[in-house]
Amino acid sequence: AIEVRGLSKSFGGREVLRGVDLDVATGEVAIVLGPSGSGKSTLLRCINHLERPDAGYVRVNGDVIGYREARRRDGETVLRELPPREVAGQRRRIGMVFQQFNLFPHFTVLENLTEGQLAGGISPDEAAERGRALLARVGLAGREKSYPSHLSGGQQQRVAIARTLALQPDVVLFDEPTSALDPELVGEVLAVIRDLAESGMTLVVVTHEIGFARDVADTVIFMDDGRIVETGRPEQIFAAAEHPRTREFLAAVR
Ligand code: ATP
Ligand code: MG
Repeated sequence: AIEVRGLSKSFGGREVLRGVDLDVATGEVAIVLGPSGSGKSTLLRCINHLERPDAGYVRVNGDVIGYREARRRDGETVLRELPPREVAGQRRRIGMVFQQFNLFPHFTVLENLTEGQLAGGISPDEAAERGRALLARVGLAGREKSYPSHLSGGQQQRVAIARTLALQPDVVLFDEPTSALDPELVGEVLAVIRDLAESGMTLVVVTHEIGFARDVADTVIFMDDGRIVETGRPEQIFAAAEHPRTREFLAAVR
């Protein structure tokens, strides 16, 4: 489960997140919508501590990310910053898939999947076996020896998803995973994400794909200007959003 409380973040004096609270239960899919610049990517980047929040905190399966809870002598619980090594360990449990696939171009598809796993201390054989199974899961069995440049954008993004899964994360964050793709390649990537959702993974997906959101989301979150303006079941948000900004946004993207 993901628990976000009072998350704030500024860049150069400009407040980009203004006290965001968010809960995603284990096995649920939250889809985040909102206009450009509303803070969606910053929210994801704070969840996995790529950005350090100015205030507030994120818990993933109970652990505060980036901090350790310590009890002071007076009984108060305080947060102490974790050393980078330990933050890195926490972050391995929070997978992230970006708009740009960021595969290593000089590695084969399978090497892209095994690289990160080896840092986790498993044997090369085990890493390769897990990598092959994940490639099959994303519909790319047999492409182990291909190089990224020989794959379509949709195939590359599916490799990037498999690479993230190879680290066995507790939750996966997707930041506009289909925005860089030609329209005809969008469906194959959404199908993979839908499969993960149906298998019970905890996902947060920033996307403009409204049809996908309607089908797959447990919760739809609408962000505007650094705040969560509205949260609800997809049938509620898409049929009868309460906030005028949500309705305006949905009218424009549909
Ligand atoms: P988009 O739909 O265009 O991806 P977004 O909702 O993901 O937008 P963010 O990328 O979170 O929005 O950005 C929110 C605001 O914060 C923007 O005004 C952006 O320019 C600013 N911003 C984000 N990251 C940084 C940074 N590292 N330094 C300075 N400003 C930043
Ligand atoms: Mg963004």
